[in-house]
Amino acid sequence: MLGLYLHIPFCSAICNYCNFNRGLFDAGQKARYVDALVAEIAGGPERAALRRPADTIYFGGGTPSLLDPSDVARIIAACREHFDMAGDTEITLEANPESVDPAKLAALRAAGVNRISFGVQSFRDEELRRLSRLHDASRARAALADARGAGFDNISLDLMMWLPEQRVDDWLASVDAAIACAPDHLSLYLLEVYPNAPLKDDMARAQWSQAPDDDAATMYMTAMERLEAAGLEQYEISNVARSGRASRHNLKYWTDGEWLGFGCGAHGTVGGVRSKNVSGIDDYIGRIAQGQPVATDVRRMDAAERLGDALFTGLRLTSGVNLAAVRQRYDVDVWARYRVDLAPFVDAGLLRHDGDRLALTREGMLLANEVMSVFV
Ligand code: SF4
Repeated sequence: MLGLYLHIPFCSAICNYCNFNRGLFDAGQKARYVDALVAEIAGGPERAALRRPADTIYFGGGTPSLLDPSDVARIIAACREHFDMAGDTEITLEANPESVDPAKLAALRAAGVNRISFGVQSFRDEELRRLSRLHDASRARAALADARGAGFDNISLDLMMWLPEQRVDDWLASVDAAIACAPDHLSLYLLEVYPNAPLKDDMARAQWSQAPDDDAATMYMTAMERLEAAGLEQYEISNVARSGRASRHNLKYWTDGEWLGFGCGAHGTVGGVRSKNVSGIDDYIGRIAQGQPVATDVRRMDAAERLGDALFTGLRLTSGVNLAAVRQRYDVDVWARYRVDLAPFVDAGLLRHDGDRLALTREGMLLANEVMSVFV
């Protein structure tokens, strides 16, 4: 079944490390954007006739929790009207801790959101300040508790590691604090400092450094051990979850699935065709208003690219790639084709080849890019 991704590009402030497609919140622009988004979801008569089945809706951003719950309800209603949504559709909304309170969380739950993903990033206030985030650790804890109180039984949080001045023990303090909040799902991201990110200048000015590479590896390995001991099982390079709480939407990206993207900068992949919408918020709104296409970058992937993608993303999962399924779908014996290049990784303990399964070991996940480069 399809996944539906909805991009909400508004933020209350722009974080110094951010490389996402976003802009500062403006109430009038937000109202026009929601109208445009609903119009894009409705599509033309072709969409209305198809009513394709879908089972996930994902509000990503930006900061989707800046929407009014009535906006969220309207967008979900448009999805239900124009797609054949499964009864147990997973509906995720990304939220920043400072942008919610108990009443808003209750209204979002009533609007149909059944999974909430908080951008916590750190439970240490000085780290949050270095990242120019608007919340502090106590606000994050309160938001997680409020979400439980509002009836959410599927709560995820994001943490970022390898932050400026963060040492191994600092990072593990955040991991322990996250575990204490008892989330159902956790995503761990490595901070990437982009060349033109204001954070890069902040780091130079304040002489903040990142820990050595070996420490970053220790951060990752030790965090995974602690999270597993706490009942959060790793299922993807950067993601852990309690049983049955893996992100159904994100699994579509990693299992050669299909999804549609709505909103500025959103991309989708359906039937081997990859499409990307225009990035600019006003450009997107203007094109919808004038009946022009918003997907300006549309291309059919060839068989080699689709296969490479399926292997590349599948290896992110701890369960790895099902080689029998790949053989059936792409008519390729992966092990026979790549054996010479892959065998050294198996010998080094970075990759497991087990019958029809090919999977990275946890050590291999630290060097995933090198292993995956075989398929590129
Ligand atoms: S809240 Fe997220 S999307 Fe918005 S500026 Fe910060 S990192 Fe970027």
